[in-house]
Amino acid sequence: EEEILEYLSLDEKIDLEKWNEYSNSHHYYDYELYQRANTELTEMTVIKNVDRLYEIYEELVNLGYSRDYCRKHYSDYRIEDFEVFAKNQIDYDTAKQYLKVNGAVIDDLPQYVNSGSSAIKAVMKYSYGFIDSSVDCSDIYQIDPEDSLTAIVKDRFVLSKNYKPENLVKVDVSRTEDCTNYKLVEEAAIALEDMVSDAKEKDLEIVLTSGYESYSYQKKQYDEYANIYGTWAASVYLIEPGINEHQLGTCVDLESQKVLDGEELVFEDTNEYAWLVKHAYEYGFILRYPENQEDVTGTAYKPCHFRYVGKEAAKEIKENGWTLEEYVLAHGLDYSMKKLEDAG
Ligand code: ZN
Repeated sequence: EEEILEYLSLDEKIDLEKWNEYSNSHHYYDYELYQRANTELTEMTVIKNVDRLYEIYEELVNLGYSRDYCRKHYSDYRIEDFEVFAKNQIDYDTAKQYLKVNGAVIDDLPQYVNSGSSAIKAVMKYSYGFIDSSVDCSDIYQIDPEDSLTAIVKDRFVLSKNYKPENLVKVDVSRTEDCTNYKLVEEAAIALEDMVSDAKEKDLEIVLTSGYESYSYQKKQYDEYANIYGTWAASVYLIEPGINEHQLGTCVDLESQKVLDGEELVFEDTNEYAWLVKHAYEYGFILRYPENQEDVTGTAYKPCHFRYVGKEAAKEIKENGWTLEEYVLAHGLDYSMKKLEDAG
């Protein structure tokens, strides 16, 4: 193995044809590396995979995928992935601009290349178009929001029941008497406090009815509702725990004091709501479920529900008349998603 290592370190001096003269021994080092990178595979599968790779190795090298590159990806690329490069004659320089996009899927690479779109747009459109609820998909994904403010959480995009955001703080704004969920992620809490106090200067009284909701809180609410009204009603009128954005700690339900005082009937008819629709983005909030966007968001118009996404994203969403889905499709995933199961 030492001899082979020494030989391989000479890199450009390697002549694949000459190397082949060493009967099967040219595979030896790669069998070893491949096995180490995929300890769960049997020896036979390792040999089969490396032999398959060797059938296209020369072609890959010609396309600009160095041996080092291939070896570095023994653990995260399948042999089929390497074959996608060779079969579709996609050279390394072309591939790399797509592959550096978070969540790029090598199987979809030929579609990315043919699309002529920018890398992020191509990856999002062909591999994650189903984030838009109007695009069919039956897969279920587990979402890890990490530090992202734009993670999509909804039907089929599930948070772990253990997910709890860091930096939850109590929000210092007026809230309804029965509001027990008055914490938010610190950044969102500060933004909400600013927004509510600026509104107050215009004699607008915005009241918090709910902020961060833990998974267990949501589950309790959901189960109680289902016990009284039945599971069908619960599934229609409530959002199931796990796919409810309130677990992110960046979402709020708001109300107008005038509605609470009986001066107005519904929130959407109040000056408070009109002001929020116009100005919330300045504080980094968006109306998450706008009117007539149910196809895209998967949720009916919800005037009370605002989400903090940061000032920059909120401004772009507002200016383009987008939903959060459309923003993510244009900017890509800044968080990770893992396919859980195929419900279909
Ligand atoms: Zn809400």
